[in-house]
Amino acid sequence: MNSYPKIIVNLNKIKHNTQILAQICNANNIDLVAVTKVFCGNPEIAKAVVEGGAKMLADSRLKNLIKLKDIDIPKIYLRLPMMCEIDEVVKYADISFNSEITIIEKLSECAVSQNKIHDIVLMVDMGDLREGLWPTDIFDTVEKTLKLSGIRIVGIGTNLGCYGGVLHTEDNLEKLCSISRSIREKFDIDFQIISGGNSGIIYLLLDSKVPKEINNIRVGGVIVHGYNMTEGKPIENMYHDVFTLEAQIIELKKKPSIPIGKIGLDAFGNKPFFENKGVRNRAIISIGKQDIYPDRIIPTDKDVLIIGASSDHLILDVTDSKTEYKVGDVVSFYLKYPAILQSFTSEYVLKEFLK
Ligand SMILES: *Cc1c(COP(=O)(O)O)cnc(C)c1O
Repeated sequence: MNSYPKIIVNLNKIKHNTQILAQICNANNIDLVAVTKVFCGNPEIAKAVVEGGAKMLADSRLKNLIKLKDIDIPKIYLRLPMMCEIDEVVKYADISFNSEITIIEKLSECAVSQNKIHDIVLMVDMGDLREGLWPTDIFDTVEKTLKLSGIRIVGIGTNLGCYGGVLHTEDNLEKLCSISRSIREKFDIDFQIISGGNSGIIYLLLDSKVPKEINNIRVGGVIVHGYNMTEGKPIENMYHDVFTLEAQIIELKKKPSIPIGKIGLDAFGNKPFFENKGVRNRAIISIGKQDIYPDRIIPTDKDVLIIGASSDHLILDVTDSKTEYKVGDVVSFYLKYPAILQSFTSEYVLKEFLK
């Protein structure tokens, strides 16, 4: 029997999106690293993006990389490693991103004891103020790292647009390239990777404005939703409906649009606001804030309105729909990035794959 709620993934569409992006990357001499965190490192989806032409896989959670261990492709650990997981980082990641010398020293220790060479990319903060070495501190870290056994610096990278919302620009990326040139000259080392950014770099890439030395990008969002988010535009030839969410109606009743009684705070401590539209046809579906961000999903029936949610219930106004909904009917939604992330994280949402 069919079970709900569920998220349905079209594997062909995600493979297709990856192919389109990989072609654009290839034309610009850039290696595409597919980021798997938005779908919690699901191996079936990861296989589809590898078939689509991703050169490496990357994730911010080690647990997700472990799920991917049987896929034979280089893997990057994106989030800075925790001191308590260094042994597993060396074991499950071919490359890790780093900014702290004490962590790099521990990586060196574990790599030596596992008889491995562990590759690292040094992260540089180009202004977004999340992770990364401050540009003036990077030389000192390179110098100290070069003295360690078991560790090889294979490149540098930066992450933008996450905490500070700083855009990827020709200017800040050119600065990253210039830092890379100075390090290579000063220490006479070769870099394989100059990793210029995440999905936020796409608007520059589509314009062929990524500085030539950038040879690597790490992308999750664009592959799953097919949007150039910086400019709020869909990307040509990509699918925007790779994922759909389905949930089942558990109550359908005509009720007023304003609650009866003295109004305090809602279940999440917010002061609710109501517009009086009279008596409406309201459907409750069995999914809630534990599983999705209610304002990051879009009903596929454009005449359905999401009017509220608590942990386990989503309330819809279906009055204007052309469909005559009944209890037991299924309502479906397109999902934005945060909703894909959260429904993959929720163990209550079934995952279904279309080939
Ligand atoms: C999440 C993440 C990415 C990928 O971000 P998208 O917006 O999904 O493309 C790239 N790099 C780092 C360091 C990340 O944490």
